[in-house]
This record gives sequence, structure tokens and C-alpha cells, in this order.
Amino acid sequence: MPAIRILSDRVANQIAAGEVIERPAAVVKELVENSLDAGATRVEVEFRHGGRSLVRVEDNGRGMSRDDALLCLERHATSKLVETADLDHLGTFGFRGEALPSIASVAHFELQTRPADAPAGTEVLVNGGKLVHVRACGLAPGTRITVSHLFNSVPARRKFLKTDATESAHIIQTVRLYALACPQTAFTLIEDGRVLFQSPVCTTLAERVGEIFGRQLAADLLEVDLAETGLKLQGLIGPPGVNRATRHEMLMFVNRRPVDSRTLNYALIESYATSLAKGRYPVAVLFLDLDPAAVDVNVHPAKREVRFRSEGAVRGFVIRAVLQRLREFGLPRQGGSGEPKPTASPAAAEPMPGDPVRPVAPQPAVPSVMSQPFRPFTSLPARPAAALPPPAQLSSATIEHRKSRIETPATLMAWRFLGTAHGDYALFEAPGGIVVLDRRAAHERIWFERLQEQFSRGEAASQRLLFALPVELDAIASALLVDRLKFLQQHGLEVGEFGRNFFRIEAVPVWLEPADAEMFLRDVIGLMREGRLDEKRTDLAHEELARLAAQKAVRLPSSLNEADALALVSQLFACRQPHTSPAGRPTHFELGRGELARRFQR
Ligand code: ADP
Ligand code: MG
Repeated sequence: MPAIRILSDRVANQIAAGEVIERPAAVVKELVENSLDAGATRVEVEFRHGGRSLVRVEDNGRGMSRDDALLCLERHATSKLVETADLDHLGTFGFRGEALPSIASVAHFELQTRPADAPAGTEVLVNGGKLVHVRACGLAPGTRITVSHLFNSVPARRKFLKTDATESAHIIQTVRLYALACPQTAFTLIEDGRVLFQSPVCTTLAERVGEIFGRQLAADLLEVDLAETGLKLQGLIGPPGVNRATRHEMLMFVNRRPVDSRTLNYALIESYATSLAKGRYPVAVLFLDLDPAAVDVNVHPAKREVRFRSEGAVRGFVIRAVLQRLREFGLPRQGGSGEPKPTASPAAAEPMPGDPVRPVAPQPAVPSVMSQPFRPFTSLPARPAAALPPPAQLSSATIEHRKSRIETPATLMAWRFLGTAHGDYALFEAPGGIVVLDRRAAHERIWFERLQEQFSRGEAASQRLLFALPVELDAIASALLVDRLKFLQQHGLEVGEFGRNFFRIEAVPVWLEPADAEMFLRDVIGLMREGRLDEKRTDLAHEELARLAAQKAVRLPSSLNEADALALVSQLFACRQPHTSPAGRPTHFELGRGELARRFQR
């Protein structure tokens, strides 16, 4: 057995770096937090190649003396925490004194800093944890930290990095979060020399949300503001019907710190209840403030997770606050009949090819959102599951196509359609028992495979809109979109740029309702932000896009006759993976004859 030894600081730092600095976005997070802790009113973040070749964060905060500049690179050197008890009333983002030494141990690290009262700045250069030089430098008061060649000395880490697009998406999301957390600080974000986002000092959260999400969306959001003993919730939430395919715009802060809390996420989603379809996420920027002693932020190395001393109380409070606001606004009454869905624009009323029956019936359970003066298309309520618009099934041509191509298994031919139940389910008698089929899941599977095939063949039938639909996006979304206009066009969605952050949807894929076009576009941008539509990996991109598109394409006929039901079954079983929906839900299950006999104790 080798003798026990204390790890050298350099090794200890590299190990800590493994926990705190898992990717370039973590560097950005730690540096921006430090800038904010230093009282900066201006923070500029620049990065290149997804942050792997460069991350630079510059602020006009209080800066450091020469001694502090050296000390801050020592492990556990912090100006923010002295006693463990201080953890209970922390007003800063940082407190462990781990970030800087960790980053410096796995990169080329240059620190330049100057307090306002010092005649000159100090420059410290560290490479892979080794001090290279310390010298005076010229600099405006504040701090500039430049991190390059991240993980060069730790190839194992480097291997775990995703594509530049993905890493860049994480950085952008991180900066958005802190920009929202601190509206009074001006932010600039620069990627590969291009300004992605720039927001001056804002006086209100709403202003900053407008800068980040686009003014049009910001104007549609509802303000939440509720305080109870020891708990305060403030912020903005989307009205019912404004929702997204990803959690990207569901942003939560606890005592100003961006967090990822299951408790809060669930509470928010639960509050929307039936107005939010499964797999959709609300838009929200919510700040929960409570006694720091009632929350533990020291659970996770990156401090993203938090634990509440009283999870139940927090959850109940958030639900009350959000629900109260949604109620004031008018939530859909379950089963009640609301106003008919307005015909949003002449384009929406145009019949679509392959759309045998147009949804013209008034929609039950449309939230009274519609009575609000909303711009058409931006805020159409999500279709509640029970109120899906009628028909527009797969065209008979498609059915023929499928039938001629694939042998229907003999057993399927023996299925007998019994009827539908609770709208979404179709019941069949099969030789082995009774089959319950989730029509939505089945349709999604069929659409998914069909669209995937179309995409990979480069086929994209699209329908030009009579009136182009204007869309305003935030700066980052615009930058992402501008790069992918051609990609979208190849998939049937034609979007034109007409001014800074303003776009027009000019043509939509034939399977997409024009009324859903804006939401679809925003969802697609959500995928882009997550790096999930990487053009270099077309198969994956097609899969992601088809998964999203399938949800939009499905319009369940309200009634189902035997022929359609059996056609649906045969199309489903002609799929490569008939047993699950693209999202992984089961499409059907069978109650075996044996099970039936057992239940009836035969
Ligand atoms: P922590 O933030 O947990 O204290 P860090 O390693 O992130 O630990 O930073 C160490 C110390 O360096 C901080 O406590 C702070 O005193 C100082 N520091 C870091 N970044 C800055 C900055 N941008 N401006 C002023 N001081 C800074
Ligand atoms: Mg810190």
C-alpha cells in the first residue's frame, strides 16, 4: 500500500475543476457571477468556438489590488464567506473560493484587474495552474478575465464537450439567465466577433425581458406578485396558450440565483393544469425570495440545484401565486364551451392540400384569453387535449401508399373496431384480447416516420401564405434563425428577414396549420438553442424536427369509423417502431384474454 499523501494544490484544483467547470458555459457562469458580486453595472462576455478557444468576461466592478489578484487564485480564497453560519445570510453568488483556481488549473488564464483608486492595474498570467507572470498593466477600473484553450491539458474533459453549437447554446442560456437576474446591469454578449445580444441598464424586469425575449412577447406576459409570510414571488408568466417545446423559457430564480428546482418546475407546470398539453412548457421568469436560511444552495457543485427546508410550503405558495394570476386572467373552464376560435387571418382560412376536412367547428373550452386584445397568432391557446380540432387525417393517398408498400400482418386483419372511448382512445377486439390504442400517439408515430422520410429525401411541400405572418424575435433567436433560414426553407418553412429582429413567415409546410406557424417557428428555434438541429448531423436534425413536426401535424378526427380505424392500425403497424410514439409513450396495449378471464374469475 502506498503511503497516504496530501494532494498538491494543483491536483486538488484540477479535481475540483472537474466538478465545478464541466463545460465552457460553467466558466462563463462563474466569471459573470464574480462580476456581479463585484458590483458591476456593465458586464461584457465574449466567446469563440463554443467557448473552447476563448471566454472573456470584462466588468466595471470594484476590481482587486495586486495582493488580492494573487490571493484569489489560491484554493478557498474568498472575500465572501468567513464562517459557516454566513451561509445562512449570503447575499452573493459565490462563497466557496473555488472557481478561479479551478478554471486557472485547466486553461490558459489571464486576469487583469484594477480597483478605482489604484493608479494602474495588475496582470496575472497562469497556465494550467502554473504562475507565468505578475506585472502592472494599464486598464480601466474593473476586471477582465480571459480564459483560452480550455481543457487543453485535460484531454479526458475535452472529449466530453459537445459540438460548438451546443456549447455555445449553453453559454447563451447562461448569460440570458444572469441578464434577467440583474436587469440593472448592462450586458453585452459577443460570439465569434458578432454581437449576439446587448442590453443597456434596465429599470424593470419587464424591460429586460423585452430585451431578451422580444417586446411583443414581453407585452403578452402576465405579472405575478404575491407575498406571504417569509415568501415572495415576483415575475412574469405566459398566459395560457403561450407555451414552448422546451424548458428554455421557463426560468426560475431563488434569491436572484438562477436555479433548476424540480419543486418549482412542477409547481409552475401544475398551475397551468389542463391549459398545458403534455410535453409543453410554460414561459415564465419568476423570482422567489425567501429567508436564505430556509434554502440550501450548497447541494450541487455548480449551485444550480437548491433544496428548500420546507418543499411543501414553497410548492403550495408558488401554485397559489401563479394560479391566482391565471384565474384573474381567465383559465379555460373544463368542459365549458367558450367562444369560437377566431379565424386568425385570411391565410388561416385557406384550405390546405391534403386537408380533406377543414376544422371549422367552434372549439369548446377555449380559454377566455381570446377576449383579450391579443395579436393573432402570437398567443393562440394550446388546444386542450379534449378539444382537438376535427379531421384532417392522413390523406387517403397516403393510406394507399402505405398499403401497397407493406404487407399487413394477417393478425391485424382479424382486428375488429369496437369504437372510441373518451375521444382519444380507440378500442379493438383482437384474436388475443382487447386492444386499447391511443390515437394521438399512433398518429404522431405515423407522421413522425413519414416526415422523417420526407426530410431525408429532401422533399418539402409547402404552402405559400396569402398574408405573410410577422414575427418579432429576441436578438439571440434572430441570430440563430438568420443562420438557418435556408435549412428551414428546405423543410418547407419559408421565413424572410425584414429588419432587425423582425421576420415574416411566408410559406408553411403543408402539414402545418398557418395558425400554428409562429409557435412552430419558436419551437424550432428552441431546438436550435439546444444545439439539437445541427446541420452537420442531418439524420439527428431530421429526427428532432420530425418529432416536433409530428405533434403539430396531428389533428384527430372527432369521430372515427371502422374503415379509418383499421387504416390507422395498418399504417401504424407499417411503421418501423409501431409500439411507441416519437416521444416514447406507448401507442397501444393489449388486455389479454387470459387477463380478462382471470379478472372475471372464470
Ligand atoms: P468566490 O466567488 O466563491 O469567492 P472565486 O474563486 O470565484 O470564489 O473568486 C475568488 C475571489 O476573487 C472572490 O471572492 C473575489 O474577492 C475575487 N474576485 C473574483 N472575480 C472578481 C471580479 N470580477 N471583480 C472583483 N473581485 C473578484
Ligand atoms: Mg465566484
